[in-house]
Amino acid sequence: MKSSYLLMLGGMIILLSIVAVSGTMVIPMSENGKANAQAQDHSPVFNGEDIGRIDFIHYAKPDGIGKPPSAVKPPKVDTCYDLMGIRWKSLPVNYIVNPSNTQSLPQGFITDAISASALTWDDSTSSGLFAAGTTGDVRYRVFDGMNAITFGDDDPGIIAVTSVWYSRRTKEILEFDIRFNEYYTWGEATLSADDPDCMDLQNIATHELGHAVGLGDVYNPDCSAVTMYGYSDYEDIEKRDLELPDITGLQSIYGA
Ligand SMILES: [Zn+2]
Repeated sequence: MKSSYLLMLGGMIILLSIVAVSGTMVIPMSENGKANAQAQDHSPVFNGEDIGRIDFIHYAKPDGIGKPPSAVKPPKVDTCYDLMGIRWKSLPVNYIVNPSNTQSLPQGFITDAISASALTWDDSTSSGLFAAGTTGDVRYRVFDGMNAITFGDDDPGIIAVTSVWYSRRTKEILEFDIRFNEYYTWGEATLSADDPDCMDLQNIATHELGHAVGLGDVYNPDCSAVTMYGYSDYEDIEKRDLELPDITGLQSIYGA
């Protein structure tokens, strides 16, 4: 039992090392440790497939320098999107929202924001990308066939994380899980003139759902207006709407 566990742990370290060097995603060492610690909860083998997992960590820029500039250059289509090389092959993608949170956010606010985010991607392809979401007691980073959208605790500086599982052989996405970090205050930035700063849930959810369908982060500062730009901050609503590079990336995977 112990030796097979260690073997699996070793396998996960190798797996994560390969993932870390083969793509553009960011996996800090501390997150590798967390991933390994949690790997024992689920099997990395699914229907005999060799399963990979990519973790996207969405950071806030320190001291407000991540705030979107008031005027940004139109992003260049050829450089402002990144394809993960994996995709859903069976559509639509279902997702389950766990509305449990420690900030008294109403369930209706959460599900409306997530629905709007999913619809934003859905409207840019005729492939029928997302099904209507449901709610349930789902958990983050458990490979259980349920695409979970949750709230939970993470390190300061991390706004949200998205994990994507896929088949290394077929490049088919098998599952995604998203967790919004309750270290930050969440809300609707457009309504927060009277309130303290908040992370706009629809804004961040739209970015994370981009990962869920196969788009990577973009870190070129010239691309700061695109939804898949890798940094965000309080009051940012720039990522709610897709820019041309986001749409180009999406349609190159799922068609117009
Ligand atoms: Zn991201």
